[in-house]
Amino acid sequence: MKQRLLTPGPTPVPEETLLEMARPVFFHRSPEFREMLAEVLADLQYLFCTKNAVVPLTSSGTGAMEAAVANALPAGSKAICVSAGRFGERWRNLCKAFDIETVNVTAPYGQPVPPEQLARALADHPDARAVCTTLSETSTGVAHDVAGFGKLVAASSALLLVDAISALGAMECRVDGWHIDMCVTGSQKALMLPPGLAFLSVSDKAWTAIDANSKPRAFYFDLKKAREKLKTSDTPYTPAHTLIRALRVSLKKIRAEGIENLWARQARIARAARAGFQALGLELFAARPADGLTTVKMPASIDSTTLLGKLEKQYGLKLANGQDNLKGKIIRLAHMGYIDQFDVLAGIAGVELVLKEMGHPVEPGKGVAAAQRALAESVKQG
Ligand SMILES: *Cc1c(COP(=O)(O)O)cnc(C)c1O
Repeated sequence: MKQRLLTPGPTPVPEETLLEMARPVFFHRSPEFREMLAEVLADLQYLFCTKNAVVPLTSSGTGAMEAAVANALPAGSKAICVSAGRFGERWRNLCKAFDIETVNVTAPYGQPVPPEQLARALADHPDARAVCTTLSETSTGVAHDVAGFGKLVAASSALLLVDAISALGAMECRVDGWHIDMCVTGSQKALMLPPGLAFLSVSDKAWTAIDANSKPRAFYFDLKKAREKLKTSDTPYTPAHTLIRALRVSLKKIRAEGIENLWARQARIARAARAGFQALGLELFAARPADGLTTVKMPASIDSTTLLGKLEKQYGLKLANGQDNLKGKIIRLAHMGYIDQFDVLAGIAGVELVLKEMGHPVEPGKGVAAAQRALAESVKQG
């Protein structure tokens, strides 16, 4: 059976990239590697919409979050954590692990935290060194108004740390335009690669904080060491260089399409996914949905664990369940990276078939038709 991986990480890898990864391993301390890294770093700046350096790290995305906290925030300092889901809570737990006091600004799962709530926290805590948040909260499917947060944080002395792991390359994210000081992403979401690489952009304001921090709590993730090596397009330790070679393929694709065209294509697919599920009478879980995934509430009579099991076993469609309290209650369909509009139609078609099999009243084709209509409405005329 044909398998379709439609989870919000990892995501499918294009055939061209798989072939690139099958090529022989080469030596990394070489002019050829440095030349390749220089090219990739420039393309990463394009992806991040930044003039700042983007530091590549050999880790999953969380490693880059840890690098940000360990380098920029001294023990005993204070950070405002803006969160409304599992990944936002990861910043909070990370801060705790590094003895950083957290001020928690939250919203119920499925809702975004409004910028006004952050404005109040910034006013109450002028000593906060950082604001940590998530652009696309993958556990709920919500997008935060990071542009709105950025305006507030830029006017303060705090740094803005953003987890954009499921957002960069899946929806609009302007690191410089939105005043993001440290922006994190990983390879296995919208970048069409397997897990193993993380990336972190660092603004001048963030470098100033890092340089002022006399006791950074990092060795492998020491960003000053990385900065030194980046001057000659190199890395302090052995990079996952075969993945970097594969990344070059993804970044060339993104450059060729154009980042704004990519955002528009993603937004169009997201609109179609939402229209499809809503036409089936299902309710969206995210009040302010991200463009890289769609989260959908299950009717009371349907356990999403059962539905997802059937989708995988009978149709080769792998979608994601809710996490923790949301397990059994929602489904999450990814549409980022190499997942395209027709994969989304396949996902909706599968959900229709399984809902019907489970005795939920659906008219087969209704969701697919609505999604198709949404796609057709946004096709360029002429
Ligand atoms: C996938 C994801 C992560 C996961 O990080 P890894 O360390 O790469 O597993 C973190 N944050 C968000 C928003 C994600 O979508």
